[in-house]
Amino acid sequence: MFYTYIQSSKNKKLGNIPAVYADRASCPPFCPLKGRGCYGESGPVSIHWRNVKTSFEAILRQIRGIRFKVNKLWRWAVVGDLPGVGSTIDKTQLRELAKANDTAKGFTYTHKPLTEENRKIINEINSETNFTINLSADSLKDAEIKKALNIGPVVLTVPSTQLEDFHAKSGLHVKICPAAAKSPKLVWPEDPVIRLAYKDSISCETCGICHKKNRDFVIGFPAHGNKKRLIDERLENRKRHTDGSPRLPLPDLVCGNGAC
Ligand code: SF4
Repeated sequence: MFYTYIQSSKNKKLGNIPAVYADRASCPPFCPLKGRGCYGESGPVSIHWRNVKTSFEAILRQIRGIRFKVNKLWRWAVVGDLPGVGSTIDKTQLRELAKANDTAKGFTYTHKPLTEENRKIINEINSETNFTINLSADSLKDAEIKKALNIGPVVLTVPSTQLEDFHAKSGLHVKICPAAAKSPKLVWPEDPVIRLAYKDSISCETCGICHKKNRDFVIGFPAHGNKKRLIDERLENRKRHTDGSPRLPLPDLVCGNGAC
């Protein structure tokens, strides 16, 4: 598998932080976003994604370079997933990646199925290293199940119109990503870095909440961009499936992790 390392992301949402694009082959075959809202499948990101050419060993060298900037935030897999083909996680490579991260603040998200084996390695990395793996959820129910596993922080895709924080009926607290929220609220008012972020335009560079492992809330990402409608329709069908109302007339993909 191949990768691309970008020293300074020019992405408005990420801000000025290093970022890695991971090979398409690392995505699980049943990712619910595949063909239905994945941001890597169109636009400029897709061009980067098609052109990943750097070996894993070379990427590790780049990441080791980051560690000298203690507390430097960076993102693994702007597109793609954890090391390992499809649904599997390459444990050796993931440990090497977390070791290369060292004291830097690497973070990522995964849609890999949470099999017992995958849960174990994700828990190990989240509890023993400074690298953060967020579990990506695709419905409130999915988010509740993943949060209950207690192996990592959880993020959730929400409809494009959901721009305010909310509590689900179950009590699950969803805070909208401050870079996307209508009126971002201070999440950790006591954290000077985050306080500063709210004075300027908010990006991952100034926010960094996705690296925090000890969140008692789920981060919500409103659907956006040119795939917004597709994602909204898919989320609406998930909701209809849960409450028993008729589905929208569109084929839905089946989430392969058994938790949706
Ligand atoms: S919550 Fe913060 S760190 Fe996470 S994606 Fe949004 S801006 Fe970036």
